[in-house]
Amino acid sequence: MRGIVFDGDGLVFTDALEVRPPTSGEVLVRMLASGICHSDLNVVDGSSPRVAPIVLGHEGAAEVIRGAADVTGFAPGDRVVIATITPCRACRACAAGRLSDCPSAFGTGERPFIYDGRATGRYANASTWAEEVVVKASQLFPIGDLAPAGASLLGCAVSTGYGNVRNVAQVQPGDTVAVIGIGGIGANVLQTARLEGASRIIAVDVNPSRRDIALRFGATDVIIADRDDDLVAAVRDLTGGGVDHAFECAGLIPTVEAAIAMTAPGGTAVLIGMPPRGARVSFDIDALFRGRRIVGSLNGACDPARDFPQMIEHAKAGRLNLDDQVTQVFAVADWAQAIAATRSGAVVRSILDFTS
Ligand SMILES: [Zn+2]
Ligand SMILES: [Zn+2]
Repeated sequence: MRGIVFDGDGLVFTDALEVRPPTSGEVLVRMLASGICHSDLNVVDGSSPRVAPIVLGHEGAAEVIRGAADVTGFAPGDRVVIATITPCRACRACAAGRLSDCPSAFGTGERPFIYDGRATGRYANASTWAEEVVVKASQLFPIGDLAPAGASLLGCAVSTGYGNVRNVAQVQPGDTVAVIGIGGIGANVLQTARLEGASRIIAVDVNPSRRDIALRFGATDVIIADRDDDLVAAVRDLTGGGVDHAFECAGLIPTVEAAIAMTAPGGTAVLIGMPPRGARVSFDIDALFRGRRIVGSLNGACDPARDFPQMIEHAKAGRLNLDDQVTQVFAVADWAQAIAATRSGAVVRSILDFTS
């Protein structure tokens, strides 16, 4: 089958990738569409090292080929989205609802693929840059007639935005929100803040082409900033003293510091963007004595079993817009162009189409 493998030096397209059959509790699925997320590219760039060879990709919509003998509830041809978290549901962290702290939530370094005679690893419990993958049945959620390209983004961009607004910040009706960095995740923070009834939703980006996207996904105000603009003053001016929730989705040290400083007393700075490993920021400790919080999570602290069916319902009802996040769809053979488009910032999300 076809797939894109990171061999330690770079990405390689192959049509000779193999995957092992499903074992207890697992399902073999055929990929329909996969997103390209910056976390995938961080592995390629070495800022988020993984053992190679490995198949990257963690936003996938797929159709069921077959489940193991003990799997019920899935039929061949069912269309599903793949969630990336695999909590054990038995440990102390899981019992407390802190699924991200479960030792098995992010996988065990398993190597279900064979590439060029070598055992090849799985990324984020998914590896959606392969034509066929084996995943746990508990990771799969039916998407019905949602378009696979948009639905694939539920796996990371949508769930991370949705979860950070609902589970982490817990935005309430009437709250004020700022979102820094309007890419795949920022757009989903915007539209989930709108869904939750936020009153003022301020989008911030350096790229003028993001204004239309920001407005379409729920921004009430858009700030197109130069890198040396005083974002904190601009947001404080618009809100009369700061926002209840500042979501940092750019992963830059100056914008992380700005997000912390632009919160109102009692406000929450939610750090989502990923700066290079080991990055340090500074902030005024006095700010925290007024009840401010600085928080982070992985995948928006989502519980897939609770949050994925909710998101799918919202998408079917038009309350979450999936399709407009897809800027461009590439045949999988054109993967290099798709990745270049993601790196350049020209697209919100590039999608790899595995059906062509
Ligand atoms: Zn657990
Ligand atoms: Zn991602």
